[in-house]
Amino acid sequence: MHRGPITEAAIAAAAVDPDIGGAAASYDWDLFVIGGGSGGLACAKAAAELGARVALADFVKPSPQGTKWGLGGTCVNVGCIPKKLMHTAALHGEAMKHMAPSFGWNVDPATLKLDWETLRSNVCDYIRSLNFGYSASLRSKNVKYLNVYARFQDPHTLELEDKNGTKTVVTARRVLLATGGRPTTLDIPGREHVITSDDIFFLERDPGRTLVVGASYVALECAGFLTGIGRTATVMMRSIPLRGFDADMANRAVDFMEQHGTAFVRGCVPVAITKDATDGTLRVEYENVSTKERGVLGPYDTVLAAVGRKPETAAIHLDKSGVRLHPTSGKVPTDHFERTNVPHIYAIGDIIEDGLELTPVAIHAGRALADRLYAGGKTVTEYRSVPTTVFTPLEYGCVGLSEEAATEKFGIIEVYHTNFKPLEWQLPHLDDNACYMKLIVNPMDSERIIGFHILAPNAGEITQAVAVAVRCRATKADFDATIGIHPTIAEDMTTLKVTKSSGASAEKAGC
Ligand code: FAD
Ligand code: NDP
Repeated sequence: MHRGPITEAAIAAAAVDPDIGGAAASYDWDLFVIGGGSGGLACAKAAAELGARVALADFVKPSPQGTKWGLGGTCVNVGCIPKKLMHTAALHGEAMKHMAPSFGWNVDPATLKLDWETLRSNVCDYIRSLNFGYSASLRSKNVKYLNVYARFQDPHTLELEDKNGTKTVVTARRVLLATGGRPTTLDIPGREHVITSDDIFFLERDPGRTLVVGASYVALECAGFLTGIGRTATVMMRSIPLRGFDADMANRAVDFMEQHGTAFVRGCVPVAITKDATDGTLRVEYENVSTKERGVLGPYDTVLAAVGRKPETAAIHLDKSGVRLHPTSGKVPTDHFERTNVPHIYAIGDIIEDGLELTPVAIHAGRALADRLYAGGKTVTEYRSVPTTVFTPLEYGCVGLSEEAATEKFGIIEVYHTNFKPLEWQLPHLDDNACYMKLIVNPMDSERIIGFHILAPNAGEITQAVAVAVRCRATKADFDATIGIHPTIAEDMTTLKVTKSSGASAEKAGC
């Protein structure tokens, strides 16, 4: 869908979608939200707080391996939350092994062992508490929560089916599509032995030796925490890591993983998986995408496919609603105001075309939409300069453009960069110069910051703050004029001197 200019008039017009079905009072609900994930929950609660009569349907179809979970969507159950907790488990292990002894702790790295069942069950208990908290907060905000699967009968009418197959019908003045996405899996013989990110966090057995297929966010994060908790993880990567990110940063993140125990099989894809009848282990036949040579890897205890996600739009009978889908991605085209081609049907979160599959984006869009529809709000969600962090063992945070995208957009750019070693890594003599940050600036516009990238511990925390500066259109001079906090990792951003164009080394010799 064409996203035209954002003007005051366009914002106002977007909030008065025509009621094609008749008088508002004749509908069961003012707003019916399909999907109780990050976006749907945020919009439903905000709309109800503003006085709308709101219902929300959330229903989780079990994964092909039978994993299912409660209210809250991907982030809470099988995404950000369990992933970050398992990343934290890995960081604790690495710190105990590699750092604690040099700070005087009497730990024997050789005897350290992570108990998967304790980690899994504590994570799952926490998730269940969040599931409970979400249903309680919907109740307290006066949103009717329905544990049903919703499909369209016509643009204002939905059929709701519960887990027993019982169907009811409701009508709504407006409908919000917030159905998110689910992982795709491998389409090869033996696919039934493969798990996805929908299963790994709930896995009742220890994942053990794991082959992770894919090389983007999910693949690298999962392989990273598995290595960190002492499991053997191998990443099978068919092309480049972290497509779409700054290539130099992506390679640095992968190099660090490789140096710290994760194995990489490059340029290959799996072609068949077989399970040993005696011990249940898996062997993976693979093919090199260029040479077509084949080989076999294994044994593995787990094969995890992290090969992308697809939007949950195929089974909700959108044809009956009139909402058009993108022909290849299956995502929902929307305008700046989250409107689909049907004026009273909106879409947010992972299902929208040209959006960003990130929780805070879905939440922002949901809240802003409710505010525009029910309170005359003017805020529009901007899908550019959104910060993000890949929670690899050494975190990679960024906001703004990659070097490749900046060069394509502006032609000439300048990059200020530095390698560094956090103070905390000095006593244990951890990797010199593995950490790295760069500011990409536009020399034709007062050295305005157009990209910030950092590979370091706690990169997410640092990048979040830098995102504010980038949003405020800060320049390199603003960073130079800012006084650092010593001793921190982030302080280096205030003293960046070495430019890439100078060819001088960005490596540091000391503290
Ligand atoms: P979802 O959260 O997916 O919610 C959609 C809900 O709708 C689901 O509960 C679904 O079951 C339900 N549903 C679907 N169809 C129907 C129907 N017809 N009727 C009723 N209910 C239905 N993002 C970050 O910002 N940071 C991270 O660190 C991060 N880590 C991630 C890690 C992993 C492993 C994954 C997979 C994703 C991660 N994400 C992360 C992305 C983030 O989880 C998503 O962007 C976010 O959850 C999208 O929210 P949503 O509201 O669009 O959909
Ligand atoms: P992506 O679509 O980003 O990446 C898919 C990966 O799988 C690519 O490396 C791709 O390789 C590879 N691949 C695809 N098909 C095959 C195949 N048949 N065989 C082998 N490899 C294959 O998906 P993700 O699931 O990693 O992430 C989805 C989204 O979820 C992200 O875009 C992000 O927005 C969100 N997310 C956010 C996180 C965060 O904020 N920290 C964490 C996790 C997810 P190729 O490049 O060659 O196509």
